[in-house]
Amino acid sequence: MDDTKRANNPLVSIQKSTYANIDVESLVNPLGGFTKYIHSGDRVLLKTSLLIPSKPEKAVVTHPAVVSAIAQAVLKIGGIPYIGDSPSGQFTKRRLEKTYTKAGLKDLANKLGIELNYDTSSQKVTIPNGKKLKKTILCNFVLNADKIIALPKIKTHTYMIMTLATKIMYGVIPGLTKARYHSMFFKKTAFADMLLDVLSVRKPDLIIMDGIVGMQGDGPSGGTPINLEVLLASEDAVAMDLAVCGMLGIEPIGIPTLRQAKIRKLWPAEISYPLLSPTDVRYTGFLLPSTADYLVTGRKKPKRSPVPTEKCTACGQCEEICPKKAIKIINQKAQVDYTKCIQCYCCHETCPYEAIKLEVIK
Ligand code: SF4
Ligand code: SF4
Repeated sequence: MDDTKRANNPLVSIQKSTYANIDVESLVNPLGGFTKYIHSGDRVLLKTSLLIPSKPEKAVVTHPAVVSAIAQAVLKIGGIPYIGDSPSGQFTKRRLEKTYTKAGLKDLANKLGIELNYDTSSQKVTIPNGKKLKKTILCNFVLNADKIIALPKIKTHTYMIMTLATKIMYGVIPGLTKARYHSMFFKKTAFADMLLDVLSVRKPDLIIMDGIVGMQGDGPSGGTPINLEVLLASEDAVAMDLAVCGMLGIEPIGIPTLRQAKIRKLWPAEISYPLLSPTDVRYTGFLLPSTADYLVTGRKKPKRSPVPTEKCTACGQCEEICPKKAIKIINQKAQVDYTKCIQCYCCHETCPYEAIKLEVIK
């Protein structure tokens, strides 16, 4: 992110909400309203969080009720909303179709008469202020948008501890290139810097975070849903993530993207909360991933490694995504070669059957 382009006192709007009763206009009005960001005729990408094909109640994907409310707000002012993301695994039309259908977005798009992105093309772009990445491949569905509204979800992440607004634009990197970056940037600090570089390429114009039902424990796909009943809106991803940390009682320096953002002087001097503050919506007892136990105990522990369990169906998705080719399907079960494994947990987050546990290997 370019320091010169960020507000030093960003606004983060926080509202109590349920999926049955969403009022995005009241949420965005304190920031200037939707008309500040969207003009009639703009093609507006609703950059949802669509990690894997998963039903909304599992809290893995941005809930369709949130996507619906925002799509309707865009339509109301004459914008042309379309829904897109690059889920994990191969970036193909087939995978997109499965993901949209399971997430309830296909029905939603039909109901509202809006577009789902099926363009899987990409191109190389340079990152002028990149610290780790000077160029990358980016999906064209992102580059072709006039405006972007990013819709992250409050979720834990076994590798990055939390996946919030500073990580939402990782989905603009197509398919398996994301797994390759795990191999190239296998240290957490380097990976977090790479995420901030990617965020700087095409900063969302507006971010609206689905925190109505979030995920705790071993997210981003294998954790448990948790009722938090909040929606947040901001232009500033770092400010939004700091607000979430305040709400959940998490030390922000423990979140790699926020730690690197602080080093890069991307933390705002102050954050203004025009509606509720993080203290007003404070949640106690939020469970971080098992891989973050050092944040809770203050003691460094051996890293956990992926262990396939009896739930494994030999579907092969972990084998496909592993950036180090450390997993093979042998005798109808995934087997990990721990001499190659870099503990990136891509296999854990991609497994559709929650068949991988994370354990300390003796
Ligand atoms: S561990 Fe999961 S992703 Fe890997 S083969 Fe088994 S079921 Fe599929
Ligand atoms: S086995 Fe899993 S955790 Fe290990 S490198 Fe492969 S994807 Fe990453």
